[in-house]
Amino acid sequence: MDHDEILCWLLENDPLRLEMLWRAADLTRRLEVGDAVHLRGLIEVSNVCQRSCAYCGIAACAPKVERYRMTREDILECADRALEYGFGTVVMQAGEDPGITGPWMAEIIATLKQRTGLAITLSLGERSEDDLKAWRNAGADRYLLRFETTDDELYRRIHPPVGSSSSSSASDRIRQLERMRDLGYEIGTGVMVGIPGQTWETLTQDILAFRHYDMDMIGIGPYLPSPGTPLDGTLGETLRGEAGARQVPNDSLTTLKAVALTRLVCPRTNIPSTTALATADPSQGRANGLSRGANVIMPNLTQPRYRELYQIYPGKAGLHETADITVGRIREQIRLLGRTTGQGPGSSPRGKELS
Ligand code: SAH
Repeated sequence: MDHDEILCWLLENDPLRLEMLWRAADLTRRLEVGDAVHLRGLIEVSNVCQRSCAYCGIAACAPKVERYRMTREDILECADRALEYGFGTVVMQAGEDPGITGPWMAEIIATLKQRTGLAITLSLGERSEDDLKAWRNAGADRYLLRFETTDDELYRRIHPPVGSSSSSSASDRIRQLERMRDLGYEIGTGVMVGIPGQTWETLTQDILAFRHYDMDMIGIGPYLPSPGTPLDGTLGETLRGEAGARQVPNDSLTTLKAVALTRLVCPRTNIPSTTALATADPSQGRANGLSRGANVIMPNLTQPRYRELYQIYPGKAGLHETADITVGRIREQIRLLGRTTGQGPGSSPRGKELS
């Protein structure tokens, strides 16, 4: 599929034609990665952050956020739950928190690995080469770092560098992903759909970049405005004004088109049906993602007392639930779709092909 075809499909609104897109994505998913839906237990380790991403509700500049960092014991407790539920992977996500030091996290990774044998995915923001190496050596298997947009100028405006550093750019996150791959991580990336300033052209380029960089995992969710952030205020208005009629809407339908097209251009990639999609459409979002290209879900295992504080956007699906309820509902959704729950770590199908 080339640039113009992707763009055309993104702009398509005829329900009958879209049905063809959904079917093609679902069939490709089935043939290339099978019916298994892999469950990854999400642990929201810390909401402390030194960055000021203009979209994010826990950014350094976000007012009135009560900050927390889990203890080592809290984290290991979540990992034990993942094991009990039969998941193959845990995902440790956090703000870019300097209090998560290299050695502290390395020890947790090594202990968690030894105790549970689970695959370990990290999503801890942009970190030093030393940290990435130490964590890989300690047993981390995968790293998620969304490049957020291929438009360098837009990236610069929504993702200011930390302090006086001027090294932050779109290409920088891509370079970091490539370094991670060199260190032996499976790498995951992704974008939000409908951030102010994102045009149809940009989103097309994003999807082409997924293919170009040959990612192992690609997460795509709608942009959900977080009150009090610059992107929900004047910066958002300015960027939307600049994009004009080419602005991509942040709705579920457009997100599903992006998920389906990503499955078609990256047939063997792991693609989650994201929590953001489930938040935008609580009744159907998760199931629609799974039936239009996705093969992964990341149920939240964070203790309820922390969940409330990890609001990168408001009203996150499952905010007031226990893990038991979330996991039960997800299993039922998988069953109703006639799919199976994945066994084992659910490593990159791409990787299997290569090794
Ligand atoms: N600090 C880590 C983890 C960030 S949260 C990092 O920077 O990688 C993971 C993803 O959530 C982000 O990469 C972003 O794409 C998404 N996200 C953040 N704010 C959002 C919002 N307001 N709406 C939707 N998705 C958002």
